[in-house]
Amino acid sequence: MNHHDTIAAIATAIVPEQGSVGIVRLSGDNSEAIARSLFHASTNQIWESHRILYGYIKHPLTKEIIDESLMLIMKAPRSFTREDVIEFHCHGGIMPVQRVLNLCLEQGARLAQAGEFSLRAFLNGRIDLTQAESIQELVGAKSPQAAQTAIASLQGKLANPIRLMRSKCVDILAEIEARIDFDDDLVPLNLENLVRDIQAVTSQAHQFMATSDRGELLRSGLKIAIAGRPNVGKSSLLNAWSQSDRAIVTNLPGTTRDVVDSQLVVGGIPITVLDTAGIRATEDIVEKIGVERSLKSIKSADLVLLVIDAEDGWTDRDREIYELILNSHRPMILVINKMDLQPAKLIASLPSSFKEPQIVQTAAALSQGIDRLELAILNSVHKDALSSANMDIAINQRQKANLLTATQALERVIGAIASQLPLDFWTIDLRDAIHALGEITGEEIIESVLETIFSKFCIGK
Ligand code: GDP
Repeated sequence: MNHHDTIAAIATAIVPEQGSVGIVRLSGDNSEAIARSLFHASTNQIWESHRILYGYIKHPLTKEIIDESLMLIMKAPRSFTREDVIEFHCHGGIMPVQRVLNLCLEQGARLAQAGEFSLRAFLNGRIDLTQAESIQELVGAKSPQAAQTAIASLQGKLANPIRLMRSKCVDILAEIEARIDFDDDLVPLNLENLVRDIQAVTSQAHQFMATSDRGELLRSGLKIAIAGRPNVGKSSLLNAWSQSDRAIVTNLPGTTRDVVDSQLVVGGIPITVLDTAGIRATEDIVEKIGVERSLKSIKSADLVLLVIDAEDGWTDRDREIYELILNSHRPMILVINKMDLQPAKLIASLPSSFKEPQIVQTAAALSQGIDRLELAILNSVHKDALSSANMDIAINQRQKANLLTATQALERVIGAIASQLPLDFWTIDLRDAIHALGEITGEEIIESVLETIFSKFCIGK
């Protein structure tokens, strides 16, 4: 990849016939020249860095007005990519941004690849790999808490300690190597301090690793299926739940069409209630299709809510559905609904496998018991996941894999010291640890890692 050519892309999400502002972004040495060939500032505005100009984008030959827009100039190195960056803030919608982008390409810019702006920001030292990943996470965040952990890591709250851990290991390596090269001239190694320092690094790594379950939950969320025979109150439950303050507003452009899954946030965890169209339409659908659909939802769910009717008690049909869920090996919460009709009656002959926290009583039609249901859901997810909630960052799988490699290597170093192996053995593992820590932030650049990270980005990011 040539890092000096000038790239261009549409930097905002464009929804047909909607959106008030759309941004076309340029980065590279020719950004300003391209902008000067297209943009005509009205009156005598000064072309200087970090200033917004108002004017018209005109076709360079025909002088036809393509759009009325604002233009932002950010000269290197004070820009996201640390290159010269120009942003045209055009009218939103496909035509204005597409036409402006085409003009930029005609004037010599190249269409950016997915994630190429961020890749340049990384290669030019503006952000490290954890920050690049957090940009992607922030954009994809499905709950305020997920966004908050992304922001924390964007602020370097993961990268900074990791860098310190790595440089600690580098110091230790230097100490040991010095003994290999000039053993006679140096005071002997203080093994106690050495081991203590290595242990400090591994224990910090373990603390970070403990945040990965929470990270996974925040990023991917939980998929929940609501199962139960007709008329027990599944759709009432879903309605009560999604009308509670946990519901995510979904009537944003582009998100409302064909929504069959409901999005909620419980304790920061984005929750998808699967196939809610199927639940809501049970009256209309032939029973058989309904069953097949719910079976599909059950199989892809992380957790199943089995709803029964308090007044009817535990029926044979309930047991059939219960066994279906058991056979799909899904964790389950039993929701005894319509408690308002049978307040005192404790349902006899419930399967003994249900323990107290997995049984919740609700009166969905009265919006009662939703809090208890949410508590039960939170209880059912990994305890570790919630106990690390006091850390503001939450690492991802890639970062966790590298931390694991690093801690295992460091534990081997401690083992090598304990069994008094030659110093060369210590340094081999120490180098592995340094390498793994460096991969997290990108201090050690591995092409394949860059490829996987940045290819997940959209074009324009
Ligand atoms: P679904 O077929 O499982 O989705 O059940 P619905 O949600 O359509 O509910 C069936 C009937 O039970 C409706 O008439 C609801 O108003 C009623 N219902 C649902 N939840 C409750 C509840 O908690 N208490 C009472 N009394 N009625 C309920």
